[in-house]
Amino acid sequence: MAVTTQPGWRLGLRILIIHDELTRDTATGAAARRLISELESRDVDIVRASSATEGGALTASDASIQCVLLDWDLAGEVGHESASRVLVRIREHNNRLPIFLIADRSAIAAVPLAVMQQSNDFIWLLEDTPDFISGRIVAATERYREHLLPPMFGALVRFAKVYEYSWHTPGHTGGVAFLKSPAGRAFFEFFGENLLRSDLSISVGELGSLLDHSGPIGDSERYAAGVFGAHRTYYVTNGSSTSNRIILTASVTRDQVALCDRNCHKSVEHGMTLSGAIPTYLMPSRNRYGIIGPIHAASLAPAFVRQLITENPLVHEGIDPKPAHVVITNSTYDGLCYNVTRVEEILDGGVDRLHFDEAWYGYARFNPIYRQRFAMNGASEAHGATRPTIFATQSTHKLLAALSQASMIHVRDGRNPISHSRFNEAFMMHASTSPQYAIIASNDVSAAMMDGAGGEHLTTESICEAVAFRQVMARLSSDFAKQGEWFFDGWQPQSVHDAVSGVSVPFYAASPEQLVTDPDCWVLHPDELWHGFGALEDGYCMLDPIKVSILTPGVEGDGRMAKHGIPAPLVTAYLDQQGIEVEKTTDFTILFLFSIGITKGKWGTLVSAFLGFKRDYDANAPLLQVLPRLAAANPKTYEGMGLKDVGDAMFGTMRELQTLKLLDMAFSTLPRPEVNPSGAYESLVRGNVEAVALDHIAQRTVATAVVPYPPGIPLLMPGEGIGADDGVVLSYLRALEAYDRQHPSFTHDIHGVEVVDGCYRILCLTATTRPSAVPAVG
Ligand SMILES: *Cc1c(COP(=O)(O)O)cnc(C)c1O
Repeated sequence: MAVTTQPGWRLGLRILIIHDELTRDTATGAAARRLISELESRDVDIVRASSATEGGALTASDASIQCVLLDWDLAGEVGHESASRVLVRIREHNNRLPIFLIADRSAIAAVPLAVMQQSNDFIWLLEDTPDFISGRIVAATERYREHLLPPMFGALVRFAKVYEYSWHTPGHTGGVAFLKSPAGRAFFEFFGENLLRSDLSISVGELGSLLDHSGPIGDSERYAAGVFGAHRTYYVTNGSSTSNRIILTASVTRDQVALCDRNCHKSVEHGMTLSGAIPTYLMPSRNRYGIIGPIHAASLAPAFVRQLITENPLVHEGIDPKPAHVVITNSTYDGLCYNVTRVEEILDGGVDRLHFDEAWYGYARFNPIYRQRFAMNGASEAHGATRPTIFATQSTHKLLAALSQASMIHVRDGRNPISHSRFNEAFMMHASTSPQYAIIASNDVSAAMMDGAGGEHLTTESICEAVAFRQVMARLSSDFAKQGEWFFDGWQPQSVHDAVSGVSVPFYAASPEQLVTDPDCWVLHPDELWHGFGALEDGYCMLDPIKVSILTPGVEGDGRMAKHGIPAPLVTAYLDQQGIEVEKTTDFTILFLFSIGITKGKWGTLVSAFLGFKRDYDANAPLLQVLPRLAAANPKTYEGMGLKDVGDAMFGTMRELQTLKLLDMAFSTLPRPEVNPSGAYESLVRGNVEAVALDHIAQRTVATAVVPYPPGIPLLMPGEGIGADDGVVLSYLRALEAYDRQHPSFTHDIHGVEVVDGCYRILCLTATTRPSAVPAVG
């Protein structure tokens, strides 16, 4: 009796039996076989395992198993150790899966209480009939399946099954329109019928409405609020880009001051532009590799913030200097996360609304290693009206499992809250009236995956993989160093205090279990050399183990460039040639993300590729051989060169142009704001802008943001002055421009810069709109 929810979709009943007598000629073995054939006659797919090890592995790896029948007398260790071990293993990742213990009625008295509590029922194989036993098994499995699907996805599946003909949009009506043309047919077959049948319009009342937060969609948002620890959760189907804009337009308006992490996403700038707010920037720290760290605690203290606002030239008379809102990126791209409880304490009532951009960090609530380090930490009930109102935006699609564009806004009401009806006006302003239901369903499923034991299990798995990779890289690095050889290393603490002995051990030799569970291994302690962020408050910031930065040689401990070095973009090109895509590359770092989608041991390929690079680099292998695509793209530049030659040339240019030092200087001082972002944007719309080359751009005001990737932090925000001809901003831009001309395959990607024949050009406000150039009246 397999459940057919709709044509083409069948979630079959699948049950695992773990028993060591299945093939044996014993009375129990025969009875187990009779039970299996009875279940099979009911259309159940049976998976067999004959040992605890095999059974445990299957339950961990096969998510389609919906019930387990476990032999309590499983052979192996003493007593019933084997069976207990499997039970514990299952419960670690699934606390709802029905588990039946196959036992003797006489043995029940001896089954420990803990085991009874973790299993659902007993099967007396020799006492009851196969028909009776399988009836109970199937019923328990069906009950489990009924609650398997979260509210919105469940409703979507039921709806797609029942309603066959529609007279509403989308006009393809369940995919039928596509069948009428060859290209459409190919589209239909590629994506499959279910995606198209479940692509519904908001006029389908049965599923509720995203704009009203009603019906199964509203139920799903409330379910997610419970899972993620919010008072309210809003699903957004156009990414956290839109989530950030919704919050900002709901919370600040024209001529209000908003505090803004300078390390913010482009969408935050857009939010400021739309709202007409006056941003006052909070400067994050930066280390010798150019990795962006946290905003120091001292820079968040109320007195310091008041000073910043006073010094902001846009905050003139008549403007309330109290900030209405603060936006902080948590964690940073490189995985630095704040102690959020401490951030709230430091801000000390200076601002009522805290907004954490957690686009890369939706999993934090589900693993104890991140406790206190995410916006929705602790119990939502404990968040009262004296605390600040807190917002978090999370891109469910980035590091949880959801479709692209899936995002969530989580809210906890506190001081100066924004009621749902007020907030929803901003929500609707940015939402489509035709949201994509598969995206909504993927948010729903994402929450269900993290609910219960699943969340900790999945996140622990990715942390374990990241730790294993880091330890192997660190050990190789140390082994090579002993031979006087170079190698890559992970960016992480050099040593760890062993939890048992208390002595400090090298990172690669630390207990993997401690690294996976003890946040103190990852906390940034003040003035440690490895992180290079200086005198941070102890415990204020932690490195997320799953965001792994690999360092290439070239930067000394004091931040100066070494004699020799290997620019990371060259290594990335090598990895790319081997089919390995990295997340981000800076001058000397490469970032890898260990998401819950990680395949166990996949990082082994990565280690081999790094070793391969070292071999080819040390041998100065011909570029034509190791990077054929690159060599072919620029035959003149790279003719006759080897891998090491190219690395040396790139590194030589970096040393000569001092790019690392100039980057540091350019990002250490904030440019002077001349007009606010919405003022600059207004000039853009009116056409009062012109593209200006670097040679003529000194003292001009930019119309759009200038953001070099990496690091991805705005160098200039719209309306900011570019400064003097020999100032830090222009010097840095000139160095990048010169570098790009010399290394055409490794050019920088700078948003807001147009490159014409190797020359950078930036949109500036025309003279008439530059406030300083407005002629005095009279
Ligand atoms: C990616 C990102 C966003 C935008 O998220 P999307 O879901 O891609 O729209 C916002 N903030 C930060 C910090 C990001 O990295």
